[in-house]
Amino acid sequence: MSAVPSQPSQPSKPSKGSANSKAGVAPASGPTRTYRLLGLSLELDEPEAGLRARACGKLGIAPEELRGFRLARKSLDARRRGRRSGTGSGGHLRFVVHADLVLPSDFKSARLARLLRQGKVREAPAVGSLEPTRVHNSIAAPGKRAARAVVVGSGPAGIFAALVLVRGGFEVTVLERGAPLRERAARLARFHKTRVADTESNVLFGEGGAGTYSDGKLYTRVDDPLEVPILEELVRWGAPPEILYDSRAHIGTDRLHKLLPRLRGDLQERGVKFCFNTRLEGLCLDGAADNRQRSLRAVRTSAGELPLDVLFLAPGSSARDTWEMLHAAGVSFEARPFQLGSRVEHPQELVNRGRYGGDGTVCELLGAASYNLVSRPGADGGACHSFCMCPGGRIVASVNEPGRLCTNGMSNSRHSSPYANAALVVTVGPETFGPGPFAGVALQRELEEAAFAAGGGDYTAPAQGVADFLAGRASRSCRPTSYGFGVRPGRIDELLPEQARRALARGLVRFENSIPGFGGAEGLLVGLETRSACPVMMPRDRLSGRAVGFANIYPVGEGAGFAGGIMSSALDGARIASGLLVAGL
Ligand SMILES: Cc1cc2nc3c(=O)[nH]c(=O)nc-3n(C[C@H](O)[C@H](O)[C@H](O)COP(=O)(O)OP(=O)(O)OC[C@H]3O[C@@H](n4cnc5c(N)ncnc54)[C@H](O)[C@@H]3O)c2cc1C
Repeated sequence: MSAVPSQPSQPSKPSKGSANSKAGVAPASGPTRTYRLLGLSLELDEPEAGLRARACGKLGIAPEELRGFRLARKSLDARRRGRRSGTGSGGHLRFVVHADLVLPSDFKSARLARLLRQGKVREAPAVGSLEPTRVHNSIAAPGKRAARAVVVGSGPAGIFAALVLVRGGFEVTVLERGAPLRERAARLARFHKTRVADTESNVLFGEGGAGTYSDGKLYTRVDDPLEVPILEELVRWGAPPEILYDSRAHIGTDRLHKLLPRLRGDLQERGVKFCFNTRLEGLCLDGAADNRQRSLRAVRTSAGELPLDVLFLAPGSSARDTWEMLHAAGVSFEARPFQLGSRVEHPQELVNRGRYGGDGTVCELLGAASYNLVSRPGADGGACHSFCMCPGGRIVASVNEPGRLCTNGMSNSRHSSPYANAALVVTVGPETFGPGPFAGVALQRELEEAAFAAGGGDYTAPAQGVADFLAGRASRSCRPTSYGFGVRPGRIDELLPEQARRALARGLVRFENSIPGFGGAEGLLVGLETRSACPVMMPRDRLSGRAVGFANIYPVGEGAGFAGGIMSSALDGARIASGLLVAGL
């Protein structure tokens, strides 16, 4: 959307205890300009506090002239350079930091000019705002009743849409089919005890959405103007301040469970009404609407009818029954390529050795190592890549339909389990799953049923050692794993479509070069991963964000096919809601 309200670049408000607060922000006066200095080098054990002075030196500005400073990005550079720097034998590792410096707009220096020419400094991207700068008078006009928004789904897309809408004057109700946090946890525990799937409250559905039981990784590479304000909200609700700049930022399931009640309390204080254990079940069309632009007057829910002016649909990537209901009610759906494969697990120690060279000091400084691996496509297409890697994590059953099994991963904030897991996936499209908007869903279901049966029909997961997978033979036994329901030795290779089996085999061989042992006896493939991406999308108007053919439905987030992950879903929800505030009903 083009209607994102954006402000001139400002230093973000420093959070207590963060590197940015240590660096300090001077009081601003007069017009300013924000520059991003790229590629400051920081040794693993070097404090961030020294970066401010170093950055000033590079630009040739006296520290007292600086109006603001913040770290914009800090990432680990693990390229081997054949020389030692930093600590201990992990000498090839260092951080690379980008920093934003707010300067008086008339500041000039030869150093700054040179760095700009060399591309080592550039204008910092604009920072937007979640506070509405302008609200169309069709939404909140004096003397008029507030416009009513119903938001379906309490995941990141729904929550950030609700936040923006309530700030813009909407009366907001969030419908969530799953339970509030504590009840959700109890129902998940019951699933583990009884092995009877709960269709409404599970790893995928319930307060906070699908990311509530996750590593809480925040992929923040999009340079979207709303990225910083969203991260700042998360910090305000209790996320660690480092998420504002750390490229490996993650919150962890334990911290997410502390953050979500604060988030809900904050929204409730602003007037948002949460209806948990309440499912969207139907659309009530406004009889007066013309045929090209249908309009809703209300929704049918499991707790009765709810009148509305706008409907935000943020149902996530697993609400298959909801998609089918919406499709039957006239909402357009299209198939979308998605990823499938298997979850691979290794001892965390093996990954640490591969990434840090076995140096315990580095591991103490950096924590459990992660990876992000990609292999080349073969002649038959299909590049395999790792996805949603969970260092020190565990494998979980992502189940919302009985008799169907899909695996996924989560971690706590300390990454403290002895195992590392990740999805190894390949992208499949209509050439694999055939025509029709729900053909991808049919393939997902088929694979999940096969995985469930191969595990013995009680959510035990089928598993195969990586070496056996590569040799094309069944595993006879499996090493212990983090997967709570246990595993049954079997043949993941025979469960996967042939194209995916070949891509995973190529990937495992290739990834052995990056992490020795990855493709060997210590690797274990657990279950099938079918939900790494949404297999459908709800087409929407590029400018207004409205569902095609509807005047007041706004599909957002992963379930609408416009995001994949916590941050991108939050951004999508906030962006479409911000656009509505400006454009009006
Ligand atoms: C185990 C796991 C780990 C993950 N780890 C990460 C990670 O580390 N980093 C990352 O970026 N992403 C991760 N993801 C993906 C991420 O969680 C999603 O991309 C993100 O949550 C999508 O946000 P969303 O708001 O679009 O939908 P969701 O978060 O899926 O929320 C949708 C909500 O809508 C509700 N809903 C559905 N249908 C209805 C209905 N009919 N009526 C009422 N409510 C309904 C659901 O109950 C759900 O709570 C993980 C996902 C899983 C399952």
